[in-house]
Amino acid sequence: MNFDLNDEQNTWKKSVHKFVDEVVKPKAREVDENEEFNWDAVRKGGPVGLLGLNIPEEYGGSNVDMVSCVLALEEIGWGCGSTALSFTAHNGLGTAPIALYGTDELKKKWLPLVAEGKNKLGSLALTEPDAGSDIQGGVTTRAEKQGDEWVINGAKMWCTNAGIAEYIITLVRTDPKGGSKSLSMILVPTDAKGLTISPPEKKMGLRGSPAYGMTYDNVRVPLGNLVGVEGRGLQQTLATLDSGRIIIGAISLGLAQAALEESVKYAHDRKAFGQSIGEFQAIQFKLANMATEIELARNLLYKAAWLKDQGRPFSKEAAMAKLYASEMAERVCYDAIQIHGGNGYSRAYPVERMYRDARLMTIGEGTSEILRLVIGRHVFAGK
Ligand SMILES: Cc1cc2nc3c(=O)[nH]c(=O)nc-3n(C[C@H](O)[C@H](O)[C@H](O)COP(=O)(O)OP(=O)(O)OC[C@H]3O[C@@H](n4cnc5c(N)ncnc54)[C@H](O)[C@@H]3O)c2cc1C
Repeated sequence: MNFDLNDEQNTWKKSVHKFVDEVVKPKAREVDENEEFNWDAVRKGGPVGLLGLNIPEEYGGSNVDMVSCVLALEEIGWGCGSTALSFTAHNGLGTAPIALYGTDELKKKWLPLVAEGKNKLGSLALTEPDAGSDIQGGVTTRAEKQGDEWVINGAKMWCTNAGIAEYIITLVRTDPKGGSKSLSMILVPTDAKGLTISPPEKKMGLRGSPAYGMTYDNVRVPLGNLVGVEGRGLQQTLATLDSGRIIIGAISLGLAQAALEESVKYAHDRKAFGQSIGEFQAIQFKLANMATEIELARNLLYKAAWLKDQGRPFSKEAAMAKLYASEMAERVCYDAIQIHGGNGYSRAYPVERMYRDARLMTIGEGTSEILRLVIGRHVFAGK
């Protein structure tokens, strides 16, 4: 396997970096402080191709390979965790299922609309108040066929972007008997009658990326809003999450890289006992550990993405990459605060925000515990 990026990937990385440096990073503190989503990044990110990462060109997307998706979210994560999370919830969760499984009619209607960067996004609701990790057994939101419509009743929780999106792809139970063939994905426009979206959750970090709870009270949508195959919602979700996990790992990597850069800068500037704190071996050892762990995570993530691009199995590698990268980001951001001393605990320095933002990464799109189950199953089966 060759880790060299090709010319196209290198050019892409540079253009995303420039965009993030100019449009995303300068607003990272403001969106966190004010709990405000960065719409400017959507307007300007559309033309760069950042809202159509998984959307075929014929529907207005950039449809880049998985390594390029990792590069993009690593860069956006480097600039702002909040913006990165909302962009990935839009791309990987909100548009990928339509692009992969949707009818041509659904693709034509929704994908060009949300790829352009005209203040329009997508979202995916899997989690419910009483079910997150246990989607198969726990989802109780129900959809029944009545005439030429689905009628949906239930509640969802923690849906990133829902209140600022055009639609919510909703995981519902279509067969009350249960089992692995009882779930389906249905696209629900956010202006559907009977859909109530609560105010955004008050979160610890990622405060510029709004997440919402919703209730569905006899929400009616056409039968044609089924995304993919009836009864295949679980399998479609698991496939969506395999790729999504690599991307959450990429955001973790970007956050850690930014925390390291801030730490190196601070270690040069801050003086104690008559010298820069970076001259102390204790500080250099921390920087060494941080840089080594970042490099390891980067290798795991690029490899998992590369496997996907080769059409090879990548589920175990995606789980490993996300597990390692997300836990690594927490350790790196912890050390970044330590290197900053008291200033690291202040909102005036960005490492405080990075630490809060990184905390989600071991939870969203598969907790560390669930990922260890996934990896353990592969290892135990000798795969
Ligand atoms: C900021 C944010 C954004 C989010 N965005 C979205 C979104 O856009 N769409 C969406 O659908 N969801 C979203 N989520 C939800 C997220 O995916 C879930 O929180 C996550 O999957 C965990 O589910 P849970 O919170 O119900 O925890 P639970 O499943 O209740 O788990 C609680 C604890 O028990 C552990 N646990 C559970 N089962 C097992 C087991 N079998 N073995 C060992 N340990 C176990 C878990 O690892 C965890 O530590 C978001 C969450 C947050 C915080």
